[in-house]
Amino acid sequence: MSSKSVLEHFTVPDDFQNGNTFKGKCMHCGTLISGSYKVTSNFVTHMKRKHRDLYILHSENKEIQPTLTQCIKKSVKYSPSDPKQLEMTNALIMFIAGDLLPLSIVESEEFKNLMEKADTKYQVPSRKHLSSKLLHEKSVEIKNNLVNTLKRAESVCFNH
Ligand SMILES: [Zn+2]
Repeated sequence: MSSKSVLEHFTVPDDFQNGNTFKGKCMHCGTLISGSYKVTSNFVTHMKRKHRDLYILHSENKEIQPTLTQCIKKSVKYSPSDPKQLEMTNALIMFIAGDLLPLSIVESEEFKNLMEKADTKYQVPSRKHLSSKLLHEKSVEIKNNLVNTLKRAESVCFNH
């Protein structure tokens, strides 16, 4: 939750000066909490302690900046150019293309869970990335291979 959006849960007096301390009235239980637009920690603490569910719900809806744990989690992932990341993605593409699986599989929580178990550092590519870039590259590669194979087959035929 950004520091300002927490105030959506409080009735703020109209006549305060920006930066001044005021008393916000909690919309959920009516408690008066002191704070200001700059110092919202009292409001946040109140929400966390008294209205935890609302606070979490609100946070999720707002798509807050990543929390510290999310940052830590993110930093241990492979970089996009990491050979292992590329290898896994390549295998994933062959898996999807080879078995004609729907691209939406990469959005499946169970699938993500499986990949997480297989290699915690691997980042499953987004469906958009898969369809717009990776599969396209792969299809070009396969097409080229196919053309070369056909050319070889042709030359064999003509030589006989
Ligand atoms: Zn309250």
